Amino acid sequence: MAEAVAAAEVELPLVAFADAVAGCTRCALAKSRTQVVFGAGAPDADLMFVGEAPGFHEDKQGVPFVGAAGQLLGKLLGGIGLRREDVYIANVLKCRPPGNRDPQPEEIEACEGHLFRQIELIRPKVVATLGNFATKLLSGKPLGITRVHGQKQEVVLGGSRVVLYPLFHPAAALYTPRMLEVLQSDFARLPELLGRTVVPPPEPAPLLALAPEPVEQVQLGLF
Ligand code: URA
Repeated sequence: MAEAVAAAEVELPLVAFADAVAGCTRCALAKSRTQVVFGAGAPDADLMFVGEAPGFHEDKQGVPFVGAAGQLLGKLLGGIGLRREDVYIANVLKCRPPGNRDPQPEEIEACEGHLFRQIELIRPKVVATLGNFATKLLSGKPLGITRVHGQKQEVVLGGSRVVLYPLFHPAAALYTPRMLEVLQSDFARLPELLGRTVVPPPEPAPLLALAPEPVEQVQLGLF
């Protein structure tokens, strides 16, 4: 009951904020997007993931991580006993860059306030950054994901102390089996960071069997 009340208390302001952001024209991506991809998941999640930007499928559906990278993220979550609905998933950019090109500095600058406000409302304990763009933005440091993945950092985000936990981007791991192994082993530490024990799933998920996402262009800034 107390948990339901807590979730409702966050949900209303988050929905109101999503409505406000839906009409955002802070950068030129507003002209080419189908819709703003605000974020999805539990409004009071302890664990929040921050990716790079919506791709083709996310732009069409209005939901983050629904393509092949999202399927892999779902399987990785399953491996630690969590579902997408248990966490919150968002991106650095809320609108798709044309052709899935890298986010531009001016786009990140225009959009970052939306992400910081989301974090302020959700107040997660752990923010797992997926790939370089989210990691550099939220750590405030220029160190790339290859250097810092799997190393937790204490930071203040949205006015609260959180554990920042950089991970390889699942889209990069789709194409590189060694990176997938590293991503899985970094993921395995998440329950400990959340102060939880893992309930192992009945069957190990066949992560390598996933087909690559049929994107027009692979995002190159992922690792
Ligand atoms: N990659 C991202 O970074 N975000 C998405 O929503 C989908 C793919």
